[in-house]
Amino acid sequence: MDFFSQCLQLGMGRNPQVIKTMHETLDMYGAGAGGTRNISGHNQHAIALEASIAKLHAKPAALVFSSCYVANDATLATLGSKLPNCVILSDSLNHASMIQGIRHSGAKKIVFKHNDLIDLETKLASLPSHVPKIIAFESVYSMCGSVGPIEEICDLAEKYGAITFLDEVHAVGMYGPHGAGVAEHLDFEAHRAGKPKGTIMDRIDIITGTLGKAYGCVGGYIAGSAKMVDAVRSLAPGFIFTTSLPPATMAGARAAIEYQANYDGDRVLQQLHTRAVKDSLEARGVPVIPNPSHIVPILVGDAEIARAASDSLLEDHGIYVQAINYPTVPVGQERLRITPTPGHTQNYRDHLTSALESVWNTLGIKRTRDWRAEGGLCGVGINGTKPQNIWSDEQLGISGGSDIPTSTFKMKTGGKVVMSNILKREVDRGISTSA
Ligand code: PLP
Repeated sequence: MDFFSQCLQLGMGRNPQVIKTMHETLDMYGAGAGGTRNISGHNQHAIALEASIAKLHAKPAALVFSSCYVANDATLATLGSKLPNCVILSDSLNHASMIQGIRHSGAKKIVFKHNDLIDLETKLASLPSHVPKIIAFESVYSMCGSVGPIEEICDLAEKYGAITFLDEVHAVGMYGPHGAGVAEHLDFEAHRAGKPKGTIMDRIDIITGTLGKAYGCVGGYIAGSAKMVDAVRSLAPGFIFTTSLPPATMAGARAAIEYQANYDGDRVLQQLHTRAVKDSLEARGVPVIPNPSHIVPILVGDAEIARAASDSLLEDHGIYVQAINYPTVPVGQERLRITPTPGHTQNYRDHLTSALESVWNTLGIKRTRDWRAEGGLCGVGINGTKPQNIWSDEQLGISGGSDIPTSTFKMKTGGKVVMSNILKREVDRGISTSA
């Protein structure tokens, strides 16, 4: 079966270095951590992992949780309840973990329209200047692939004295010269040169991420100032009263972070495969919701049909693609969501696009031209809505609009090669996408 709906976007769950590290740590230290972080569950693996995370995001400190759901919930609940009269401004498409954290904080919540800076500013300006404020938002929104205006939100936060809380769950490992996420990507050259001071990532107060998606393991974290991290460490029940992650998991996650920090080939290939899938579907009139990220959402617009399309892909074509229905997306905007991986080589992509073509024909699902005739929806069928990709052509080595990549980057072997060779070799790389 071909998996096109997974969140292990870089195949790190099967990365040999990660697996070797986990085996060795498991053999040496056993299955479990043996307690909570404050009672015997604190160990060298937690210290090393938190040091790697802090370094990745160029922050003074980091703290690991059992998941990013817990990290978001615990951190927002703690800050929102301990800062007197705190108000949390939350993007309308924020993940359930942030919504739950805000609810648990008891703080006042103000929802601003998704990625709408005017709405956010209006709401910030309506609050007294002495009131503590937190702006909670994401970098990549996984259901539509949209990307938060991080720099502009930092500008507003500075203007109105707000703390910025950025969830990079769908971006860590995937963007930036070291895989730290979209905030890092926005100052690509500065971070590549090891100069984080004054960058957009530097301006974010709290970054949260997962170890369970691009990094292929499990766990979540926050990174930020030493004082903020200490406050959460000392006060958050979601950190204090639960068993630490197993040593092997922490060591494996650290190996994955270090691997991706030193090698950008997987995320570059993932982006190239995403572009290839989007181009091929768009050429067939299969309605891809336009976005600048690695997510490929395909508009269906009906819950029953979306489920039937997903079932048919599985039963008739051996492809797993999950249907996304209400309440994850609004009624009428149901979709299929595809995430290509570095292992989705040409043969897998061709199989996917021809299967989608066949399912669209069999079920009579609306194509881009049909949405255009109705005035468009979610950016589909609306001219001029193609956003600029986060990874530029130049960063991917395909600058000049040429199909033939021109630049070079380091392969795992250490040699430098032209990217067209990488695409030719991809079949031999041995990354399995089927089970
Ligand atoms: N934040 C976002 C935006 C997510 O999509 C998810 C999970 O899918 C989480 C947080 C929770 O991360 P984790 O799976 O590590 O609990």
